[in-house]
Amino acid sequence: MLADVLSYLCCPHCSTTLTEAGGSLRCESGHVFDVARQGYVSLLTGKAAVSGDNADMVAARDAFLSAGHYAPIVAATVAASAGEGCVLDLGAGTGHYLAAVLDASPGRVGVALEIAKPALRRAARAHPRLGAVGADTWQRLPIRGGAVSVALNVFAPRNAAETARVLATDGRLVVVSPTPAHLRELVSTLGLLTVGEDKAARVSASLPGFAVSAQDGREFAMSLTHEEVLALVGMGPSAWHVNAAALRGRVSRLSSPVRVTASVTVTTYVKE
Ligand SMILES: [Zn+2]
Repeated sequence: MLADVLSYLCCPHCSTTLTEAGGSLRCESGHVFDVARQGYVSLLTGKAAVSGDNADMVAARDAFLSAGHYAPIVAATVAASAGEGCVLDLGAGTGHYLAAVLDASPGRVGVALEIAKPALRRAARAHPRLGAVGADTWQRLPIRGGAVSVALNVFAPRNAAETARVLATDGRLVVVSPTPAHLRELVSTLGLLTVGEDKAARVSASLPGFAVSAQDGREFAMSLTHEEVLALVGMGPSAWHVNAAALRGRVSRLSSPVRVTASVTVTTYVKE
């Protein structure tokens, strides 16, 4: 619910406090943001450079995650996020990971920042202590400085400067990123984007001002139907690069069920 997280948010134009009145949020300077019927608020300023995942991609992601195929990754994310205080998910998608973190911590609230409206609609009802906020994570975040205890970044782009600003002094950043082994059975047969051998180093290099405090990994086999393989591809970055009809054709020629490896690194960073 937005009311639970209001004290962590700020106006994207002037950074002053937001209060709720009559279905809108209003800042001290009079900027007004309408709360959508579905329960999220857009704090986007101007037109975003990208619109994020479309409705089909979001539906595919929701179906795949709800089926529990990534449960070990969710569990590792929850373990790395343990503690107290506000949890911020940067590029939260449908709110699946953040909801799991909140489930494991009854006293906490969470803010899901996401740019795609179809994802925001789902995130808004993902958990009773979760507030869903439309924002471009490449821009200045509509979050008060030092307000966040744990920032989550799950298969999402990283904005180091803004993440450092919103994290408390003793705050943590939890990054989940794929290893080169992730979905390896599908990469060549389906023409997916590959993960470079230097992925972990590139993730750390993209986070100046942060130091690694812990690292954990998860690698496991999934047994997927053809539809689930299509959903998995549809939720990832390759969805933009692979022709849908060609993909469907290639998937139809795979054995069934399809054995697919999931492999991620869960890295916890603290501010230097
Ligand atoms: Zn304002």
